[in-house]
Amino acid sequence: MIETIAGLNAANSFSELPPQFYTRLEPQPLSQPRLLHANPDVAELLGMSTRIFQDPVFLDVFSGKQPLPGGKTLAAVYSGHQFGIWAGQLGDGRAHLLGELAAPSGNWEMQLKGSGRTPYSRMGDGRAVLRSSVREYLAGEAMAGLGIPTTRALALVVSDDPVYRETVETAAIVTRVSPSFVRFGSFEHWSSSPAELRALFDYVVDRHFPECRAGVQCPDSLNDTVARFLREVVARTARMIADWQTAGFCHGVMNTDNMSILGLTLDYGPYGFMDAFQANHVCNHSDTQGRYAWNAQPAVAHWNLYRLAGALLGLGTPQDTLKEQLQHYEADFLQAYRGNLMRKFGLLAWEEGDDDLADQWWRLLHTQKADFTLSFRSLAAAPAQPDAFLERFADRDAAGAWLERYTRRLKHDERDPDQRAAQMLASNPLYVLRNHLAEGAIRAAAQDDPSEIDRLLQVLRDPYTEKPGFEAYAAEPPQWAEQLQVSCSS
Ligand code: AMP
Ligand code: MG
Repeated sequence: MIETIAGLNAANSFSELPPQFYTRLEPQPLSQPRLLHANPDVAELLGMSTRIFQDPVFLDVFSGKQPLPGGKTLAAVYSGHQFGIWAGQLGDGRAHLLGELAAPSGNWEMQLKGSGRTPYSRMGDGRAVLRSSVREYLAGEAMAGLGIPTTRALALVVSDDPVYRETVETAAIVTRVSPSFVRFGSFEHWSSSPAELRALFDYVVDRHFPECRAGVQCPDSLNDTVARFLREVVARTARMIADWQTAGFCHGVMNTDNMSILGLTLDYGPYGFMDAFQANHVCNHSDTQGRYAWNAQPAVAHWNLYRLAGALLGLGTPQDTLKEQLQHYEADFLQAYRGNLMRKFGLLAWEEGDDDLADQWWRLLHTQKADFTLSFRSLAAAPAQPDAFLERFADRDAAGAWLERYTRRLKHDERDPDQRAAQMLASNPLYVLRNHLAEGAIRAAAQDDPSEIDRLLQVLRDPYTEKPGFEAYAAEPPQWAEQLQVSCSS
C-alpha cells in the first residue's frame, strides 16, 4: 500500500499519442484549497493506504498545484453531438488528466475536473462549482455501490474562489478515476482524419479491448477487429443502459461526448435517481424537449452508437459490417434489462408473459406516481404481507390486481419464499442518491462540513443492507425537495 505521493509511480499512456490529441499544460490551482473529502474505497482500488490523505503533497496534487510524480498533465481534445446536433470540437475544457497508476486492480487514470481553462474551454471559465462537484463525487460511488459501471472519484477539494453562474458560487475540484476517459466523441473528432483515427483506435483496442485482436497465428484484418470492437462497445453500452433503467437513474446529458467508450457512466451533471416514477421523467431542467427522459435513454444510446459507428467508417470498414454490429443493440439491451428485472422481481427465469407483467408494473408505478426505489424494495415482502405493500399506492385496487397476478406468477418458480425474499432485498436497493440527499451534503459542504458526504457514502457503498440510524436516508423526499432543480449549469 502506497502511503505518500512520492511513493506513487505514475505514467501517462495517453500522452504517447501524437500531440494533436491533447495539449500539455498545467492546471490553474485554486487559492487556499482545502481537502474536504477523500475516498478510502477508491484509494484502496488505486493501491493507496488512507495514510496518503495526510501527506501534505496529496492536497497539492489534487488541487492542481503540483503534478503527479511521473504523470504528464494534459487536456484531451474530443468532439460530439450535443442534444442531437453536431457540436464540432469540444474537449477537456475544465479537466486535466494527471496520469495513470498501475495498481493490482488495474490501470487507473486520474483526472482533475474544475482545474482551470484549457485550449478547449471555449467560452467557459474552466471551473466547476462546489454544488456540482459534490454531486459528481457522490454519484460515482452511488453507482458503484449499485454495481453499475461508472467512473469513480478519489478526492474533493474546495476553495472560496468565486465562480459566476446564475449566482455567485464557490469553486471545487474533483479528482475522477477511470481506466480511460476516451469517449464516443473522441472517435468522432477524428472521423475524417484516417491516420489519427487509426492511432486512437489502436491505442484504445490495445489497452482496453485486446481480445478484439485475433491471435498471432491467425493474421487478422482490420475490419474484423473494428467489427469486434464495435460489437463489444454495443454490448457494454446496452448493459449499462439496462442498469440505468432498472435503477431509475437518468443521466441528463447523454451527448456523445459524455458516452464512455468503455461503457462506464461518465460525466455526472444534472443526473437524477427518480423519486416518484414517471416514465417520461426528465431530470435535467435545461432539457426542455425531454430528449434525455428516462424512457428515451435506451433509444438515445442506440443513436449515439450510430454516431460512433459513423466515425469508425473512417477506418475504411464497410458500412454493412458496422451496421450489423449495431443491430445487436436491442437484443443486448433486452437481455440485460430482463435479467435485471428478473432479479428485482425474484424470478428464476424470464417467461412468456413476464414482459407484460413488467409493463403493468411500470404502468402501476407511473399512474400512482409511486416511489421508484421503495416500490421495488417493498416487493420482497409483498406476497407474505400484502397490506404493507398496498398501502404504498393511492389506488389499492389497481395495486391489488397487479399483486395478485405477480403472486400467481411466483408459483411457477419452485423456490423457498425466504430465499427469494433475501435475494430480492439484495437486488432492490433501500438507499439511492436522491436529489435531496445530495442537496443536504452540498449544504453541509458549503460550511466546510464533510460529515454528510461521509454518512451518504456509508449507506451508498452498500445500498442493499438496512442500517440502523439511517432511516431518513431511506425515506421518500421531504416536501422542500420539490423545489430542487438541476440544470446544465455546473
Ligand atoms: P458537459 O456538457 O458538461 O459534458 O460539457 C460539454 C463541454 O463543455 C466539454 O467540452 C466541457 O469541457 C465544456 N465545459 C463545460 N463547462 C465548462 C466550463 N465551466 N469551463 C470550460 N469548459 C466547460
Ligand atoms: Mg462532458
